[in-house]
Amino acid sequence: MKYDVIIIGAGPAGLSAALYSARGGLKTAIFEKAMVGGQITVTDNVENYPGFEDGISGFDLTAKMKTQAERFGAEFISEEITAIGLEGLCKVIETNSGEYRAKSLIICTGAHPRRLNVPGEERLTGRGVSYCATCDGALYRDKVVAVIGGGDSAIEEGQFLTRFAKKVIVIHRRDELRAQKIIQDRAFNNPKIEFIWDTVVQEIHGDQRIEKLELVNRKSKKITMLPIDGVFIYVGILPNNGLLESRIELDNAGFVLTDENMQTNVPGIYAAGDIRHTVLRQVVTATSDGAVAAWSAEKWIIENYDALEVESAKQ
Ligand code: NAP
Repeated sequence: MKYDVIIIGAGPAGLSAALYSARGGLKTAIFEKAMVGGQITVTDNVENYPGFEDGISGFDLTAKMKTQAERFGAEFISEEITAIGLEGLCKVIETNSGEYRAKSLIICTGAHPRRLNVPGEERLTGRGVSYCATCDGALYRDKVVAVIGGGDSAIEEGQFLTRFAKKVIVIHRRDELRAQKIIQDRAFNNPKIEFIWDTVVQEIHGDQRIEKLELVNRKSKKITMLPIDGVFIYVGILPNNGLLESRIELDNAGFVLTDENMQTNVPGIYAAGDIRHTVLRQVVTATSDGAVAAWSAEKWIIENYDALEVESAKQ
C-alpha cells in the first residue's frame, strides 16, 4: 500500500499533520500503537489551547482532532512500527503486520515521563508511585501525597491533586520553581500545598505499598524520612526516539533536530511536536508543528515525486 504521507504517532502534532495532509488531498495514514491523543489525554483541563475559553480535557480535545482528520480522509492504523527504512526516495515502514510505503514521513512520536531512578521507584509503581495524577489522583481522597518536580507539570498536577488529597507536598531540588508564574502563583495561594525546597528523593520505602520517602537536603545534606500515602513524579520528559537513532539526527538529549520547516536531516522526513528539539512543548506548538510539517511534506512531494512522474510520462 502506498501513501503520500505516513505520520507516526497520533498526539496533537500527528493529528494536526493528518488534518492538514488529508485536507490537502494527500493520501494519508497515521499510525498509533497505543491510544490516540498521546500524553495530553491524561490532562484533566487544557486551559491554554485557544478557542476553548473554559478549558477542555485533553481526551476530548484530541478526540475532536481525530474526528476532524478522519472527516478529510486520514486513515488511522493501530499497529506498532518496528523499523523505518529508505528505498531511494521512498520511505518504508515495517510493522508487526507488514510493510507500508510512503513518499514522505512525519515523525510525531512524542515523549514519556522521566523516572527518578531511585531504589523502590520501580517496585512500588502502581502501589503508591504514580506518573499520572489524572489517572490515580482520586485514589488519594483525604490522604497526604507528595509531588516531585518544579516544572509546569509538577505544579499543575499538584494543584489538581488538592481536589482529592488533604495535603500535597511539592518536593523540589532547587529553591525556586521552573513553572510559569501564573501556575506558581496559584500553587502558592493554595492552602493545601506545601513546599520542601532544595531536596531530592533518595529512596522510596514501603513493603506492599509506599510508606515513606527518604529525602536529602542538597544544601545541609540532612536526611529525613517523610511518611506519605502516595508520590507523583513529574521530573520532565524523555523523547520516544527508539526508531530513529541510527538514521535521524538528534540533539544531546535525544530530541530530533529540524529546521523551521520541520525538515530532519533526511529529505522527505519531518518531525513535529514533543519529539522535536524545541523551546516550548505545548498542545498549541505541537499542532502548529504538525501543520508546518504537512505543508512541507506536500511541497517536497510536488518538487520531487511529481516532477519525476512528469519526467517519466514525457519519455
Ligand atoms: P520540565 O519543565 O523539564 O520540569 C522538570 C522539573 O523536574 C524541573 O523542575 C526539574 O528541576 C525537575 N527535575 C528534573 N530531574 C529531576 C530529578 N532527577 N530529581 C528531582 N527533580 C528533577 O518538565 P515538565 O514539567 O514535565 O514539562 C515538560 C514540558 O511540557 C515543558 O516544556 C512545559 O512547559 C510543558 N508543559 C506545559 C504546561 C502548561 O503550559 N500548562 C503543562 C505541563 C507541561 P530544575 O527546575 O531544577 O531543572
